[in-house]
Amino acid sequence: MKKDISRRDFLKYLGIGTAGTALFEGAAAVPAIASGGEHPSFKVPPSKLKRAKETPTICAYCGCGCGIIVYSENNSITHIEGDPDHPINLGSLCPKGAGISDAHTVVEKIDKRVPNKNRVTDVLYRAPGSSDWEVKDWDWAFSEIAKRVKKTRDASFELKDDKGVTVNRSEAIAHLGSASLDNEENYLLHKMHRALGVVNLDHHARL
Ligand code: SF4
Repeated sequence: MKKDISRRDFLKYLGIGTAGTALFEGAAAVPAIASGGEHPSFKVPPSKLKRAKETPTICAYCGCGCGIIVYSENNSITHIEGDPDHPINLGSLCPKGAGISDAHTVVEKIDKRVPNKNRVTDVLYRAPGSSDWEVKDWDWAFSEIAKRVKKTRDASFELKDDKGVTVNRSEAIAHLGSASLDNEENYLLHKMHRALGVVNLDHHARL
């Protein structure tokens, strides 16, 4: 009977098959494994990923938009790897993407990751003409962005162009999305900007 299996299932079965072959060959060389499995050199440590939560997402580093799986436990990232079901990268990651967990935590010593202190988690604001960054809260940032978008749109909105053609647009605002945006986020951003009359919008992963 034909059974459909996903790419991830296939890799899983392949891994089990390979492990089975390796154990079989190991059993011939070390009879203690076959009789009781007590040979110290064959103690398999428990998988660190066993209880981890899997969250599929997109690499934020470049326009390729590779799929990654983030493994976490107690809200802390424990491991990251390429998503074998993702059509762009089929499970592979370049060295930069493979090290993306450093954006969140860094290795302090083997098996111990600590929060990356260099990660920016606050809103930083540099006022016009100033050389200093000020720390602001998110409520301030959202209302300030909304206020400035409205002011700019009101001042620049064109109902018709100079040939009398209806355009309903503002060319004074532009939007550039990052590669970490997925299709759904891009869809919503596109709708929001079109509703505002923004015509200069792009996305560097071009999803
Ligand atoms: S894994 Fe590498 S190639 Fe893929 S999106 Fe990230 S940085 Fe780009």
